[in-house]
Amino acid sequence: MSIDLAEIGAAKGIKYFLISYTDLFGNQRAKLVPVSAIAEMQKNGAGFAGFATWLDMSPADPDLFAIPDPESLIQLPWKKEVGWLAADLWMAGKPVAASPRNALKAQIARAAAMGYQMKTGVECEFFLITPDGKTISDEADIQSKPCYDEQALMRRYDVITEICDAMLELGWKPYQNDHEDANGQFEMNWHYDDALVTADRQAFFKFLVKSIAEKHGMRATFMPKPFINLTGNGCHMHVSMWKDGENAFDGGDDITPLAKAFIGGLLESAPGMAALLNPTVNSYKRINAPRTTSGATWSPNSVTWTGNNRTHMIRVPEPNRIELRLADGAANPYLLPAAALAAGLDGIENNRDPGPRLDINMYTQGHLVTNARKLPLNLLDAIRALEASDVLNAALGELVPAYVKLKTGEWNDFCRHLSDWESKTTLDC
Ligand code: ADP
Ligand code: MG
Ligand code: MG
Ligand code: MG
Ligand code: MG
Repeated sequence: MSIDLAEIGAAKGIKYFLISYTDLFGNQRAKLVPVSAIAEMQKNGAGFAGFATWLDMSPADPDLFAIPDPESLIQLPWKKEVGWLAADLWMAGKPVAASPRNALKAQIARAAAMGYQMKTGVECEFFLITPDGKTISDEADIQSKPCYDEQALMRRYDVITEICDAMLELGWKPYQNDHEDANGQFEMNWHYDDALVTADRQAFFKFLVKSIAEKHGMRATFMPKPFINLTGNGCHMHVSMWKDGENAFDGGDDITPLAKAFIGGLLESAPGMAALLNPTVNSYKRINAPRTTSGATWSPNSVTWTGNNRTHMIRVPEPNRIELRLADGAANPYLLPAAALAAGLDGIENNRDPGPRLDINMYTQGHLVTNARKLPLNLLDAIRALEASDVLNAALGELVPAYVKLKTGEWNDFCRHLSDWESKTTLDC
């Protein structure tokens, strides 16, 4: 074992390790382990009852073990005596295939066998709201076009800079922070990296942002559409594939044929991917949404691609990368890149043709593209598309039926919920 956590813990003044894993619904689960016990946990993992979290397991199953990846160690910038570790799940001596981090690692290995490395950068939008979750935290943040609002950004200077300082200290190379398109909404960008590194950082970023917001008496939410008339929380992912240390998407003036085949794969699998990238009932109030008070939703409604144009599912901002704009803030940090890589590799393997790029405003001219497939209109549509996706089933294996089963349960739970809207529209029928 090259990295000895007990030794590092002692050297860095770490008293506790947080052994953390992300379940199928994106929830972070953890055990807090004193440094005196970490050597044993590094070898055999921390024990959990898998059924108690969102994994397809039974209460009769044996212990689930979360074995920390020492490479992922992050000393909490706001509580230095704690070291955070992303963990891989094992049961009965085998990796759990239906778990997000293992699924991403499997796709990364598949890409590596083809000579490729995926690099990603994510834009995790979030709102700063009141602790009761009912309203944005800043009463003065009321502009109808609030994007880049200097005054509102600076009213949250203490929170935003504490988060950005943490990223600087961790060496993530953050480069900009802004007020986004909804009142109360912010975005903070850091430099892209290997897909697994970015996935661990995304999982940690959500924890970081929520923790610092709480410290300042607020609450942070990544919920896809927390306020119906405002722009929702997207989680765009920028992607490039690298071969022999070179960016294999970058063709100079244009993206390469490889990038186009990757886009072809993403378009092919988009409806099924939506179940993973737009994983909640609420997600479907962000995609396919009517205009927001700012003038645009900035979210896609159809399975299309374009150049530097923000009204499509895939945008090519520059020839060195593509931007997948489908995912929202509820997307699992590991299943987002795992699904995109699975779909993109299928595109490369089968040389899928994405067709010509569409240089139109999809919000106003979308009706002119009669052959564009629509994205799923709700979670059930998306679950069914995932279930029917040969590409995603073949690539993600056991994870798909496990995920479909748990998400169908969530959909059924939602259907048993009686809403005010139903009463208003149906009481007097
Ligand atoms: P925008 O708002 O224009 O979509 P941002 O600047 O907010 O873009 O985010 C861009 C993201 O893309 C960042 O995380 C950045 O590091 C990442 N990125 C830049 N170049 C590449 C690349 N070649 N491959 C993958 N990600 C990239
Ligand atoms: Mg116990
Ligand atoms: Mg951005
Ligand atoms: Mg944004
Ligand atoms: Mg973007």
